[in-house]
Amino acid sequence: MENKLTSETPNFRTQILQCKDCQADFILTDSEMLYYYRKNLNFPVRCRECRQARRAQGLTTAEGSVQGGDCHGS
Ligand SMILES: [Zn+2]
Repeated sequence: MENKLTSETPNFRTQILQCKDCQADFILTDSEMLYYYRKNLNFPVRCRECRQARRAQGLTTAEGSVQGGDCHGS
């Protein structure tokens, strides 16, 4: 019985996808796919800009700069 260890990676091909957010076409290159595959991540469904925008949103924590108005004690 042949025990063939297949350490080969799938043959990814560069493809054009449509962004889920802005419906713009973006390119997912084979090297990018390989990157996501190796990291065990899902392939992106958004274009680069939308991904960066979302990332930026996630990083910028909305600091509660609530301005307490006049605090007049009785
Ligand atoms: Zn987009």
